Amino acid sequence: MSLFNKAVSYTLPFVPRPIIGYFARPYIAGERIDDAVKRIRELTAEGACATLDVLGEEVTHEEQAQHAVEIYKQVLQRINAEKLNSSISLKPTHMGLKLDKELCYQNIHTLVKLAKVYNNFVRIDMEDHTTTTDTINIYSRLREEFDNVGTVLQAYLRRTVADINRLIPLKPNLRICKGIYKEPHEISYHDGQIINHSFAYILEKLMINNCYVGIATHDEEVVWEALRLIDKYNIPRERYEFQMLLGVQPRLRKILLKGGHKLRVYVPFGAEWQAYSTRRLKENPDIVGHVLKSLAGKVVGQ
Ligand SMILES: Cc1cc2nc3c(=O)[nH]c(=O)nc-3n(C[C@H](O)[C@H](O)[C@H](O)COP(=O)(O)OP(=O)(O)OC[C@H]3O[C@@H](n4cnc5c(N)ncnc54)[C@H](O)[C@@H]3O)c2cc1C
Repeated sequence: MSLFNKAVSYTLPFVPRPIIGYFARPYIAGERIDDAVKRIRELTAEGACATLDVLGEEVTHEEQAQHAVEIYKQVLQRINAEKLNSSISLKPTHMGLKLDKELCYQNIHTLVKLAKVYNNFVRIDMEDHTTTTDTINIYSRLREEFDNVGTVLQAYLRRTVADINRLIPLKPNLRICKGIYKEPHEISYHDGQIINHSFAYILEKLMINNCYVGIATHDEEVVWEALRLIDKYNIPRERYEFQMLLGVQPRLRKILLKGGHKLRVYVPFGAEWQAYSTRRLKENPDIVGHVLKSLAGKVVGQ
């Protein structure tokens, strides 16, 4: 990371809301559920499906977690009523994990149960390493009762291969990503090549064990590894999907869709966009570089 990127990332919390809003615009659907629905319709026209994320995390009061559950219920009802091709993704700390693990479990249980009624699916996002064990425990408990729930494992964590070995008997549905949080070297790989090797190794393990896998990346090298494994093991379309973030690498998204692969776009929306965007940019200052590059591209292109 360059000194410039670092300097920009440290000053982000002091940047006025409209400026953060400008940077965040491509990555966030908007503040209202109607904004998200519009984005999903556009993605559907392109041939993609979606997963809706209600922005928010690290709640400090039970009422905030309950409020989040209520919004997610409305989202599930709306997806069902409008026959949208979208699942939901949620964060354990938005559901109250840092307040009370049982409360968090019950909140997610409520949503997975409602999603089941609507024939829909809930993905439990993975947050920083302080939440990994609890998230896996909550997922494993839910998986005993439901088949419409999945979670996420991060290729940069040293523990992930062992976690996968433990989860495989449950026939898990897992999204694999590199991992967005800044984690200490003791517990995570920092070398990009090793993270990519880890990603490919994990994908292979899941594929040969007949697990459903969400391949969440915009890195063409990882995409290539995934395509190589899909071909090598003749993995049917029903057993994998690519996943990408809204606003990131739309060209690669179109290439994969054209190649006949299922592709799901992560669509975040909600009033909490400022905290989310600032945190994301600060947690991973390299993104500042991407944002500035895209901004420069826009200026040049005008
Ligand atoms: C659908 C989805 C869900 C995710 N869920 C989680 C989760 O639950 N937990 C978690 O820790 N992480 C999650 N992530 C984030 C993930 O861990 C990575 O941080 C992120 O995807 C970047 O890694 P990459 O594989 O795209 O590779 P990178 O090497 O980081 O990126 C490859 C290329 O993509 C482009 N790019 C990547 N990110 C951006 C960006 N923000 N803006 C502009 N261009 C960009 C750049 O051109 C870059 O060169 C998720 C990612 C996706 C796609």
